[in-house]
Amino acid sequence: MVKVLVAAPIHEKALEMLKKAGFEIVYEEYPSEDRLIELIKDVDAIIVRSKPRVTRRVIEAAEKLKVIARAGVGLDNIDLEAAEEKGIKVFNAPSAPTQSVAELAIGLMLAVMRKIAYADRKMREGVWAKKQCLGHELRGKVLGVIGMGRIGSAVARIAYHGFGMKIIYYDVRKCPKEIEKELEAKCVDLDTLFKEADVVTIHVPLVPATKHLVNEEKLRLMKKTAILINTARGGVVDTEALVKALREGWIAGAGLDVFEEEPLPPDHPLTKLENVVLTPHIGANTVEAQERAGIEVVEKIIEFFKSS
Ligand code: NAD
Repeated sequence: MVKVLVAAPIHEKALEMLKKAGFEIVYEEYPSEDRLIELIKDVDAIIVRSKPRVTRRVIEAAEKLKVIARAGVGLDNIDLEAAEEKGIKVFNAPSAPTQSVAELAIGLMLAVMRKIAYADRKMREGVWAKKQCLGHELRGKVLGVIGMGRIGSAVARIAYHGFGMKIIYYDVRKCPKEIEKELEAKCVDLDTLFKEADVVTIHVPLVPATKHLVNEEKLRLMKKTAILINTARGGVVDTEALVKALREGWIAGAGLDVFEEEPLPPDHPLTKLENVVLTPHIGANTVEAQERAGIEVVEKIIEFFKSS
């Protein structure tokens, strides 16, 4: 019998599908590395989300493992090289979180531009901070999308059709002509994007080429009134430089869902800044995205074991 270790919460419909397919399920939420090393020994497949980390030590301890499935997109918690060396297949659900992350990015833009979180904090302190909450509209502003893939283009689509924003983007490959036409999107170089955008939104994966892509030099190119949104990966932004930029007013604000260190330490300098809206990596954290992600990877697992 195929034994599947479910090491992170997945949608109950996905668990039902595994049961119906006759698979044995071992469920343990977010085990530590040492615990995972024990659990992984005799399982055929493991399902994770952005946690736990499936390290080389874990993979080397596995005796029967054939599949590592990530119910989501990013694979940075999985040692892909170690998996490949052992011929272990890695599945993910690349499009499951697209709409959810895109909607959060838009939510962060609005929260920063209209100071929604700040206003809410003040209300709770009994302060009617109307004057301090003078904001900006999104309509007519330039949206600079770094990484015009699934999520980047979904954000651009909402921004263009919903808010009348002008779209410029930077990507290593040009996005399909139909999308450029639909969104009147212009492909520009990175410096132009930072100089021209009123809102910079990041949607590239974290790879060596994108590590600290947003650094002091790029932040200094931005307009003083511009804001930065990061719902991709924390490591794409140099946090120290960003804190400096926010403190010293090189940019007006930031909306961040991802951090170089997660969870963000409670006393982190970012938590002391009023012009930042912070969320705890909740981009894909919707019922709809979780349902799609769970079902998509479970379908792939069932198909794999049926055909092998
Ligand atoms: P995608 O692969 O569809 O798009 C990524 C885009 O980045 C592609 O168009 C690619 O060409 C471009 N790119 C890659 N390397 C680049 C580089 N060096 N310079 C410029 N462009 C580059 O991925 P997606 O589904 O849109 O996801 C984007 C990222 O969002 C993921 O990699 C993940 O890190 C992040 N994400 C975050 C959450 C969350 O919870 N906040 C959830 C899902 C995904």
